[in-house]
Amino acid sequence: HEQYKESDQKTKELEKIKEDLEEKNKSIQLSSRYKSEFLANMSHELRTPLNSILILSQMLSENANGNLSKKQIEHAETIYSSGKDLLDLINDILDLSKIESGKVEVYPEELFIEDMRAFVERQFHPIAEQKGLQFNCYIHQETPSILYTDDQRLKQILKNLLSNAFKFTAQGTVRFEVHPSYSESTKVVFSIIDTGIGIPPEKQESVFEAFHQGDGTTTREYGGTGLGLSISRELANLLGGRIEVVSEDGKGSTFSLYLPDYDKMSDADFVIAESE
Ligand code: ADP
Repeated sequence: HEQYKESDQKTKELEKIKEDLEEKNKSIQLSSRYKSEFLANMSHELRTPLNSILILSQMLSENANGNLSKKQIEHAETIYSSGKDLLDLINDILDLSKIESGKVEVYPEELFIEDMRAFVERQFHPIAEQKGLQFNCYIHQETPSILYTDDQRLKQILKNLLSNAFKFTAQGTVRFEVHPSYSESTKVVFSIIDTGIGIPPEKQESVFEAFHQGDGTTTREYGGTGLGLSISRELANLLGGRIEVVSEDGKGSTFSLYLPDYDKMSDADFVIAESE
């Protein structure tokens, strides 16, 4: 009899623990939703006054009446460029909070890989010229010509990865390559390869965390928000794919985006993508 009483007691204790855990889980989910909603609202409210600052400082720096001194024009230009940095940061925070709160929808369509190549070439050719870097774009001949995915989101990821490649490379080459993917769950791999500063092994995972940037000196030297890679990784997950990095400190980095056809994803892929 005593034995039964004891095991009954244990079962009750376990049930209580399970209930507590479920309760905690719910409150974590709720607070993370509140956090995302708060960030989304705050970012939105910040943009309105910031737009006035940008427009007016730009007008001032153009010195239409000709009555500002050189120093005053320089100050107006600094206000404008700092305002632009702030706007980038706000837009990135807004993007990340939208993705995290599940507010970003995927609009898949049939995309020609060749069009994507033309797009990145058009976008980054001027930057390559300006920095005196080689920029090569290459599609492996066995690559499928069409990918079913979200055009805007794919472009956003590629732009983030390529902007970083150009930002962190002072000399040499940036390469954009597209290959067929030989893994079962993805179809195409987009690789962005640079001969830049590289990322030391111990930092190769943490660069994907929000607000993580290379060391302090890198941050000051290169600017940026530290959100580009975390947004890119979240977007890649949303499209059912993933981003991987291979890098050697001081030699260069390769960021690879693996993507499937969006509609060919099974439920299992969704679960893997979400839990990564
Ligand atoms: P940001 O570029 O705004 O700092 P990201 O999230 O895009 O933010 O990148 C985070 C950090 O990862 C960068 O600050 C940099 O230290 C490192 N990083 C990203 N891409 C490269 C690259 N191609 N080469 C070297 N370091 C890189």
